[in-house]
Amino acid sequence: MAKPVLLTVDDDREVLRAIERDLRRKYGSEYRVLRAGSGQEALEIVRELKIRNNAVALFLIDQRMPGMSGVEFLAQAITLFPDAKRVLLTAYADTEAAIAAINETGINHYLLKPWDPPEENLYPVLDELLEDWEAAFPPQFEGIRVLGNRWSPASHNIKDFLARNHVPYQWLDIETAASDAEVRSLVELLDEDETRNLPIVILPNGVRLKQPSLADLAEHAGLRTRATEAFYDLAIVGGGPAGLAAAVYGASEGLRTVMIEREAPGGQAGMSSRIENYLGFPSGLTGADLARRAVVQARRFGVEILSGEATEVRVDGPYRFLKLANGAELSCHALLVATGVQWRKLDAPGVERLTGAGIYYGAAMTEAMSTKDEDVYVVGGANSAGQAAMHFSRYARRVVILVRGSSLAASMSQYLINQLKSTPNIQIEYNTSVVEAHGEDHLEAISIHCSETNEVHKVPANSLFIMIGAAPNTDWLANIVERDERGFIYSGPQLTRDGKRPNGWKLDRDPGLLETNVPGIFVVGDVRHGSVKRVASGVGEGSVAISFVHQYLSKVV
Ligand SMILES: Cc1cc2nc3c(=O)[nH]c(=O)nc-3n(C[C@H](O)[C@H](O)[C@H](O)COP(=O)(O)OP(=O)(O)OC[C@H]3O[C@@H](n4cnc5c(N)ncnc54)[C@H](O)[C@@H]3O)c2cc1C
Repeated sequence: MAKPVLLTVDDDREVLRAIERDLRRKYGSEYRVLRAGSGQEALEIVRELKIRNNAVALFLIDQRMPGMSGVEFLAQAITLFPDAKRVLLTAYADTEAAIAAINETGINHYLLKPWDPPEENLYPVLDELLEDWEAAFPPQFEGIRVLGNRWSPASHNIKDFLARNHVPYQWLDIETAASDAEVRSLVELLDEDETRNLPIVILPNGVRLKQPSLADLAEHAGLRTRATEAFYDLAIVGGGPAGLAAAVYGASEGLRTVMIEREAPGGQAGMSSRIENYLGFPSGLTGADLARRAVVQARRFGVEILSGEATEVRVDGPYRFLKLANGAELSCHALLVATGVQWRKLDAPGVERLTGAGIYYGAAMTEAMSTKDEDVYVVGGANSAGQAAMHFSRYARRVVILVRGSSLAASMSQYLINQLKSTPNIQIEYNTSVVEAHGEDHLEAISIHCSETNEVHKVPANSLFIMIGAAPNTDWLANIVERDERGFIYSGPQLTRDGKRPNGWKLDRDPGLLETNVPGIFVVGDVRHGSVKRVASGVGEGSVAISFVHQYLSKVV
């Protein structure tokens, strides 16, 4: 925790140095002692402390200073730190002014200069005031703060990225400035240019990032974006369950392993509000929890986790080179593709324009709190939609699930169907699809088509969560590995056709079970052609693949 601040101000440099020395000696281990030579300079410090969300415990201020008196300084400073204790330093001749100020600016005490010996004249007074301050002061939030607008896609992306990477942050919605004093004072302290170009991310060290890219944010939020080594035994692209399992098994069996993830470890599973069918967790666990545990486990075995996107693969003899979106390149002997699938887009007028501003793909759990007492629409009939509906039903007034078919039985697990039916604020509308989204700068209404009656109804809506199936995103691998017409990657026996091995395959063995048509490039999880799309099967494939990696490496190195 950052130490609370004791700020002392005096225009006499000798006095300032002496008081600073005395404060540090007694309070330096628990408080940060700052000093300023004028009221103006001190106000600058106070504003910066407020932007950083640091706490000020005490102002110890000289009364008679040119330009701005101690009382004048305090009148401004306490609007930003109303709970800070205030002590005025006065010469004997100024005691009248100090006494008057006790009423005007709520001075807690005035001290006569000189205060020697401090053990008698300074510390007892300050001890008492600081004890009072500590007892009353709530702990400050110390992490990253994001100031933005609920309906801005850029704000949503930042919140989602931080939450899914388990980076603690505080969300401040500019729309609440009228009712929330904290938001208001921050808005007043920032430059006009900054508040006009939201979102702004404020780091604990005071650095302000205006509309940062996710790569920029990753760098500043302490996520690793560059590989520490040029070469690895095993590089894994994708940090979903399959990639994480491969990372844990690979590193635990002694392979130098790097895992590259462009959004957040956990993948689709990380977005699940409750996984109830994963072995060993009888009451279920959230995807975020599963991801967090897996990341800790992977790190413990020495896996290097990079935040970044793989954009290109090059094969050169026994080496596989991987290029990342930030321009960096790394090489490895074995490459494992575990890039899963991404949400399919809903093709209807208005949807693309309002994505991130009321329309979201997936359960977008960071938005759950904002749906409090509202109606939420969920599109989709698979388990993901069912889980999301259950999750939102805890916040929203009503959750409406729009299902294209006439039943959920074929697409959703029975336990979830039972849960949905017994939750009073969840409503399921069959034979329905969203045909248009309306709204200026955020979602205000949707048009729903009913295939039974062939009628279209326009209903007010602020939140629409779309979960209508997913597709792999493997175009960046198009010239390297063989894929089916939808982009899923072939592996093992799928590559041998009419008894013939894949084109260009030169080894005197068939491709291994989870190996692609390029020796040493493996594929696991949802992105693999014919895979079972479940957390457990991804984890199973990721761990099994490591034995094939070992077999491959034994012949290469
Ligand atoms: C909301 C929801 C709920 C679900 N609930 C359950 C459940 O209860 N039980 C169950 O068994 N299954 C469930 N599933 C399915 C399960 O989550 C998936 O089958 C599983 O996550 C697949 O794992 P994966 O590792 O293959 O891929 P993914 O989980 O899709 O992970 C792939 C990762 O690769 C990353 N990536 C992609 N391209 C790149 C690139 N070029 N560079 C770097 N990184 C990249 C992605 O960002 C992603 O994080 C659910 C899915 C969803 C969406």
